[in-house]
This record gives sequence, C-alpha cells and structure tokens, in this order.
Amino acid sequence: MYKCILYSTLLALSASSATCAANTYNAEKDFDLEKVKAKYTDVNYVYTSIPERGYNYYKVADNAYYIHNEFDSMVFFITDVGVVVYDARPELTPSVLDLIPRLTDKKITHVIYSHHHRDHAEGMHLYLKSDLLAKDAKIISQKETEEFLQIAHEDLPAERAALRPMPNVVWDDDYVLETGGLRLEFKNYRRNWHSHDDSVVYAPKQNILFAIDTFHAKSAPWIHFGEATDPMMTWKLPQILLNDYPQAEFIITGHEKIVATHADLEEYRDLIKDMQDIMHDVMKSEAFHATMKEAHRRYKDGSEWWNYREGIDLAAEMAAQKFIERWAARVRNASLNAEENFKMMFMQFAILNP
Ligand SMILES: [Zn+2]
Repeated sequence: MYKCILYSTLLALSASSATCAANTYNAEKDFDLEKVKAKYTDVNYVYTSIPERGYNYYKVADNAYYIHNEFDSMVFFITDVGVVVYDARPELTPSVLDLIPRLTDKKITHVIYSHHHRDHAEGMHLYLKSDLLAKDAKIISQKETEEFLQIAHEDLPAERAALRPMPNVVWDDDYVLETGGLRLEFKNYRRNWHSHDDSVVYAPKQNILFAIDTFHAKSAPWIHFGEATDPMMTWKLPQILLNDYPQAEFIITGHEKIVATHADLEEYRDLIKDMQDIMHDVMKSEAFHATMKEAHRRYKDGSEWWNYREGIDLAAEMAAQKFIERWAARVRNASLNAEENFKMMFMQFAILNP
C-alpha cells in the first residue's frame, strides 16, 4: 500500500495520468468472487511461475489474503484492529511478513498454530522476532498441539525447539475467536486423520474453512493420503466437512497455488469413494483370487509372510490400473501414488478395519 501512495504522490507531481496499477503489490480493490474463482481455482494456475519476490497472493474474501509460493499456501485476515495469521509456515512466513506492511499499518494480533508439524509450525519464531507483532499478541494452539510442542522442547536441541515457541492461548474442545469484526470457529473432531486430535477452523463471514493437510484440489491424493494417521477417518472426512460446512466457499489446505473450492472437496470425496469401490471389486475378483492361489502353491517356507506381501502388491497393482484409467484425465498425479495408496487401503480393508 505504501508503494502505491508513494507512486501516486510522485505521479501527481509530474501530472501524469498513470495509476499504480503497474505496482505488483497492488491488491485488487474490489473483491470479485467469480473473478477470483475463474483465475485462482483453475488448474492452469498451478503451472504459472512465481514472481521474483518468491511469492504471490490474492484475495479470497474481503480482507482475507491467500499467499503462496510454489507449493505452500496460507491465509491471513486484516481485521478492524489488527492482522490474524493462520498457520506458521517456515517457508512462507518471511513472505507474509514482507506483504502485511504493504497492505496495512496494523499489527499482527494473533498467530494460530494449525498443528505441530515442522512444515506448519517452525515459522512461529519469526513472528515473535518481528516488529509487526503486537506486544500483547496471542499465539494460539489446540491442546494436543501444545503437548507435542512441549515434547519437542524436551527432546530436541534448544535452538531447534525454539523455532516452535509455546502458545499463550490453548483451546481444547471448541473455541471461538472474535476480534475486530472477524469470527473464527475452532472445532476439534477428537479424531486423528493427519496429526493428533486434528482440528478445523471456520470463518463464517468469509465462508473459508481451514482444513490443513487434508487434500489437494484437482489432484489424486498425496502419498499415504497425506500421511494419514487414521486412514479410515481420513477417508470419511470429506463428507463430514461437506455436511458440517455446507456454506464453505474455499477450503484452505496449506499446499498448492490454487485455492480449493467446495466443488473440489466434493470431487475428492467422489474420488475416495471410487478408490474404495475399486478396492472392494479387486478383492472380490476372480483374477485376484486365482493369482493368490498360485502364490500359495509357490511358497513353502514362511509362506504366510510371502502370501501377505503378494496379496498387498497384487491388489494394489490391479486397483491402481483401474484407478488410473478412470481418473488420469480428471485429476493431476493420478498414477504417482496410486499403488502406494491402494496398498494402504488394502491393509485397512482386508486386515485392520471393518
Ligand atoms: Zn502436517
């Protein structure tokens, strides 16, 4: 913003009619949801290059900014009284701290941990060192995140642990943050899907849902479904979120240049359902059982070890083939993790869970 003012002053002096539109930091003044959707939810935006400054940003609602580099993304809000930042990404935080003073003179009043993983938490120390942080700023985390940060402080060398400072506000079941006209509703599902006691946050006025590390828009799943700690819950989650947040316009997942939409979450739910159907079909198929019979004949010593291994590999291979046929034209990365993810699904369905 200050660049814009500076340019305007200089331009007024030279009586030029040019505007500050050339300023690369000039955020669109009037928020146009359909325009944002057309440009920034289109898969082609994934393949555009990042400006030299190392990041780009766009509005996802009035006073809500989506900032991203090649693969990390996060959102912050400019409220009536300050700035609220969700997620403390080490790679992106320097860019966030570069951008905020270009948009507002307000201080950062709240920084919120999404979970304790290093790639989402080790940027927090940068906020505490920054002049942009308000003196009485709140560093917020969910209770189990705090517990894991505490373990990090006990187990890691001090300089490493210091990258993830302890919070000064800790919530547990549900929590609402109201500040400067912004309302954020925190929810703990008391289940694991990616980390521990994973939580989501909803901004009802902006219709923005934060569900970090849950899925990738217009893409097949990350390996092991985003390092799922409880795959059965991970696969149920898309429908749970669609039920609980039917108004959500955008879903912030923490990675990707494009912002995920409600329709992307529906597509991901359908994709998971299709993976499950494919896996069940393969497990029931004659081809699978005929090949497994052969495997039983082949191995004598330690046969159960080998049979189990062959079963996993065979089912995953057969399922991946079907999945790629059906989804390669619809999403990115259809073949990349398909076998690995179907191995996980086979073990869950055949052995570990009903
Ligand atoms: Zn994570």
